[in-house]
Amino acid sequence: MSELWESTLSDLRKQLSAESFATWFGAIAFDGIEGDLVRLKVPNRFYSEWISSHFLDLIVTAVRTHASRPELSVRFDLDETMITSTETKAPTVAPPRPSSRPRPEAPRLTTGLNPKYRFDNFIVGPSNQLAHAASAAAASAPGRRYNPLFLYGGVGLGKTHLVNAVGHRVCADKPDARILYVSAERFTNEFIWALQNHQINEFRDRYRNHCDILLMDDIQFLAGREQTQEEFFHTFNALYHSDRQIVVSSDVYPQQIREMEDRLISRFQWGLVADIQAPELDTRVAIVRKKAEQEAIVISDEVALFLAQMVKSNVRELEGTLLRLAVKAELLKRPIDLEFAKDALRASMPRTETLTSVEDVQRAVCEYFNIRMGDLKSHRRHRSVAHPRMVAMYLCRQRLGTSYTELGDRFGGKDHTTVMSAVRKIGGLIDKEDVDLRGTVEAIERKLGL
Ligand code: ADP
Ligand code: MG
Repeated sequence: MSELWESTLSDLRKQLSAESFATWFGAIAFDGIEGDLVRLKVPNRFYSEWISSHFLDLIVTAVRTHASRPELSVRFDLDETMITSTETKAPTVAPPRPSSRPRPEAPRLTTGLNPKYRFDNFIVGPSNQLAHAASAAAASAPGRRYNPLFLYGGVGLGKTHLVNAVGHRVCADKPDARILYVSAERFTNEFIWALQNHQINEFRDRYRNHCDILLMDDIQFLAGREQTQEEFFHTFNALYHSDRQIVVSSDVYPQQIREMEDRLISRFQWGLVADIQAPELDTRVAIVRKKAEQEAIVISDEVALFLAQMVKSNVRELEGTLLRLAVKAELLKRPIDLEFAKDALRASMPRTETLTSVEDVQRAVCEYFNIRMGDLKSHRRHRSVAHPRMVAMYLCRQRLGTSYTELGDRFGGKDHTTVMSAVRKIGGLIDKEDVDLRGTVEAIERKLGL
């Protein structure tokens, strides 16, 4: 690729969101300069029109600047052979075309896969285990079992992440596979555009004949859009009947998508419907750690735990909170310790008081075992109170990260070594698969919403 185009791209990458950059610029191939004309190839008219109307100014300005040639302009040429695999590594060799001049690099159509969303950085926990396993299975044997795969779950819980991960995995296993990742919204826009511009055959050809894996995100967008649903229905049938894998995501269960045709809903249920729930505390902690590692943010376990306790229902928000914290720490040149995290979050989140406290845990434990708070904090050693006390100490330590000394105080003035041995004892029993005890601890955690 020419240096000019490379520097133009890196310039544009800075100005656009990662998503639009990947979607639109991965699909452009540089095709040389002729006179004053920079020639770029795009896979179809939809691309050329969209890019011309949205990004032409940006491209022209960047090209002129980097070439120091204010007279340059840009032209798009269609190249239908560009509809091939995805944006990733393995360069695929273009089929030789006898009469055309040699091509230095095979152009590839970016399918809009987000390079950040892969299986290896997806944290698996009970909340998303099924969806994860089904996605991995669909990716390893596309079009066979679990077709279609329907993933549903609330906002920010990892649907888009998993859908992309399927695409990357297939692409790594089968570099020739033609993978199309598209949001239902973009599918709709392309469809309408194709209708208006007499390109419907091309549109159909692309989705029905040039696609081995269709990854359709946020299908609920099709609600109430009859004509697009009809189109998707036929796309679905064409792919399904030629054993092509279809993965669909939605923020609700198929039957709950309003104004969706029954015949589509029933097709969604032909394969596997897997849900993603809000992650449990441990999973959230692991997600925070993973994200910190990826972004090279240094945080202690205490801080990871604190963030995971603060933001419970949405992974995107959890990540956002971590990133904001990191930015703030960098600006103020402070390490991200617990105190700093608490201060920073108190300012930005008025709901800090919803954080589970030692007292909440104590109350929940008393309720569960039907004992009085006074007993819990007493020095009585009878098993009926000593056991709940140890469980409460364990939960506070494990789930809230409270220090041994503070716990000693909060449990009626006990020595920190007493707390330590209680925590160790309960932890040991749980590790030894004490099913009853584990059930107890989980029940109390559920009560606390941990
Ligand atoms: P959705 O499409 O369900 O709204 P996304 O897939 O966009 O959610 O996820 C939101 C953010 O949370 C993304 O940055 C994603 O990487 C991250 N995320 C969600 N679940 C997980 C997980 N289990 N492990 C790692 N990151 C996750
Ligand atoms: Mg999404």
